[in-house]
Amino acid sequence: MTSLILRSRLSQKNIDDYKPFSPKTVLLLKKTAKKSLVERVHNIAEKYHFQVGRISIRSQKTRWGSCSSKGNLSFNYNLLRFGKEIVDYVIIHELCHIKEMNHSEKFWKLVEKFCPDYRRYRKELKGHSI
Ligand SMILES: [Zn+2]
Repeated sequence: MTSLILRSRLSQKNIDDYKPFSPKTVLLLKKTAKKSLVERVHNIAEKYHFQVGRISIRSQKTRWGSCSSKGNLSFNYNLLRFGKEIVDYVIIHELCHIKEMNHSEKFWKLVEKFCPDYRRYRKELKGHSI
């Protein structure tokens, strides 16, 4: 009997756990997401020898990432909804803008060098709204 009571208590607890995230939890999740994105940018930049400036993670409405002329990068934390390959592609895309501030053929060649499958990821991203 005891185990049955315990079990019912446990399931009640599980139900309680399913309530919507509190604002505090949402904030914590965002913070964790931001930290992991920033770490990933640093890792890739180091691996491919890009000199990055400031990195900021925001919830932008219109873009997945951007790069300023000073090499400051900005990423949309909603990117974390995607798999690692797509996140890496967006990071590489913005890193390549440090060297090529446009979408010229030269730019895409550079992206391809670090991310040979970029066309696939680009297409996949285009199918999603932010
Ligand atoms: Zn771009």
